[in-house]
Amino acid sequence: MTREELFLSIKENIAPLSQERLDALENLMRVTLETNEKFNLTAIKVEEDFRELMMYDSLIPLKYFSFENKRILDVGTGAGYPGLPLAICSSGNFILLDATKKKVDHINNYIKENRISNAMAVNYRAEEFANYEWEQFDYVIARAVAPLNILLELCIPFLKEGGTFIAMKGSSGEEEISSSKHALKVLNSEVKEIYIDYLPIRNEKRILIRIIKNKSTPNKYPRDYAEIKKNPL
Ligand code: SAH
Repeated sequence: MTREELFLSIKENIAPLSQERLDALENLMRVTLETNEKFNLTAIKVEEDFRELMMYDSLIPLKYFSFENKRILDVGTGAGYPGLPLAICSSGNFILLDATKKKVDHINNYIKENRISNAMAVNYRAEEFANYEWEQFDYVIARAVAPLNILLELCIPFLKEGGTFIAMKGSSGEEEISSSKHALKVLNSEVKEIYIDYLPIRNEKRILIRIIKNKSTPNKYPRDYAEIKKNPL
């Protein structure tokens, strides 16, 4: 996907964005790809692929959710996706969480150098960070981190009662919902809506799952990661 194709498909399918924001996305891509050569941050290394699979894909939530004045946590953000593109293109306040220090350092350097005032990255495991930020977020979002039943235990504890978890999934999304009935129940949450989109050029299916936290999370969640893996909900 060329720069022009990206800009046009964002405008037509997702939301109208200012030229300033579109330029900032292009700059973010360039810096991520440059840093990739040194630190191996993401698997996608070609501009044409990056625009569609990392930028366009990261922005799909803007079509369905408004982050204005909200606190949002991106769990397992990696090199900053979807958190950085969403922070650049909205006025939400984003925290980007990842267990890998070199990725978090890269994101914080980027944020500082480009004066992005509505995002910061932190280096914790989700299970650990939940102790500090228990039920503090309006939204939690995650892309390409874990199967939904495991992801729910990592993400739901961060949400305020009534808050929304956005799970960004590929074509396995519906199946993962079927395997998450028990997890949803013990975490007092429910699937409210499923949004289906297709990438503009590859035509690959993307599923956004809107999950609401109805009531406070029982204190014993999230368990240690070893326990989550051994006995997933
Ligand atoms: N969301 C990004 C990265 C996906 S790779 C993207 O879509 O491009 C998954 C990332 O999740 C890795 O960077 C890994 O360090 C992080 N991760 C996995 N389990 C985690 C956990 N329990 N807590 C924090 N980060 C985690």
